[in-house]
Amino acid sequence: MEMEAPVTRQQTAILCLIPFILVPIAHGCSHPAINRDAQFLAEIERIPAIDNHAHPVCPPAVVPGDRDFDALPVDNLEPESDPVLLQPSNPNLPLAWKALFGFSGTAGTPDGLRRLQQARDVVRKAKGDKYSVWVLDQSNVETMLGNRVSLCEGISRPRFAWVPYADALLFPLDNSKLAGNNPDRKVYVPLEDRLLRRYLTQRGFKQPPWKLTEYLERVVTPTLEEQRHGGAVAEKFEIAYLRKFDFGDPSSTEAEKVYSQWMGHGPPPEAAYKILQDYLFRYVAGECGRLGMAVHLHRMAGAGGYFDVAGVNPLLLEPVLNDPRLRKTKFVFVHGGWPYTREITALLEKPNVFLDYSSQALSFSPATLAVTLREWLERNPEKVLYGTDAYPSSDLMGWEESLWMANKTAREALALALEGMERDGEVTHEQALRLAHQVLHDNAKSLYSL
Ligand SMILES: [Zn+2]
Repeated sequence: MEMEAPVTRQQTAILCLIPFILVPIAHGCSHPAINRDAQFLAEIERIPAIDNHAHPVCPPAVVPGDRDFDALPVDNLEPESDPVLLQPSNPNLPLAWKALFGFSGTAGTPDGLRRLQQARDVVRKAKGDKYSVWVLDQSNVETMLGNRVSLCEGISRPRFAWVPYADALLFPLDNSKLAGNNPDRKVYVPLEDRLLRRYLTQRGFKQPPWKLTEYLERVVTPTLEEQRHGGAVAEKFEIAYLRKFDFGDPSSTEAEKVYSQWMGHGPPPEAAYKILQDYLFRYVAGECGRLGMAVHLHRMAGAGGYFDVAGVNPLLLEPVLNDPRLRKTKFVFVHGGWPYTREITALLEKPNVFLDYSSQALSFSPATLAVTLREWLERNPEKVLYGTDAYPSSDLMGWEESLWMANKTAREALALALEGMERDGEVTHEQALRLAHQVLHDNAKSLYSL
């Protein structure tokens, strides 16, 4: 496959200088697209990172055809318009193949792909049961929070921490009408049904109990407790794929009424089901706070061409974040909320709100991401977490390449943002380096008591 030559750093530098030559404005190039200080970037690359969000895949020798890397895998949806950097033409992809597997050349043909697979197999075999840890080492990731349905041998402590999924617990009724006319949700809802059955089976139930109190006491709470004891540091909600963020605050009586009326009696009307889901969301969030787990919320436009971007404006969650009963629960906006990055900035003032910039490092350039990062770092740097969203996207880009590429961009963007702050006299060099340590490592370490 032919790839366009990427713009070199030298070319970018010249492009950025043009405004200075033609129009001597103070800001110059609005996108600071070069790392002025290679030494500073090198210092940042040496900091061991805690990756707040990723989907590591179990080694094939341990779990052949592993699908637990996501509760709602996004590889069976109708086509959408992929951003440029998520396409196989991303110039960082061949760099990842080369760095990880010593593979040079293109993989866009069946023969090329076969040679890439061979190169991967050689490394996998050589690394054996240390393969997953070796993958982390290639990006200087000390600990990865693995957002998975289950862990496995090779994806385990101490280098991996666990973030399981809680969405299924919010949908105990008949879900045959839950997807409405949304084709993506028609893919997702059966997967949530299956995960709830799995949770029910683990608790010795074939179907949810008939009373809400019993469902809470014998299914929901024990599931969360068991996951906590199994090493979970947070519960993940992919609820953004399933409904809007407009959680109300119904009473237990209202929720019990819906539960009793509709359990075993077919699909409930949307408005009635919402009452139960809203109640269960706050219940689970409260239990997470009690058990010392954070709540992770997928907050980024996509994936999927039917994703409800307007419905997941993070400001819709403000009543939940302002609920005094939930102040012990730490909420982490995974993916930094794009495109609502400024709304998230405002929400960071709440003591229990955090964000990571995973996934953004896969879909934006360092220069673009640095602008967003700098705003957060100027406001609440103690709330900003490094993350990659490493994900097995395709045959060409496994979670390994995805981690390598996201890590490269995430660290370059952080260096650019901090260099800008240092250049403009906001921080000293030592303070910039301190902030880098916070974002890459220390903020997550203290948030999860790792
Ligand atoms: Zn993810």
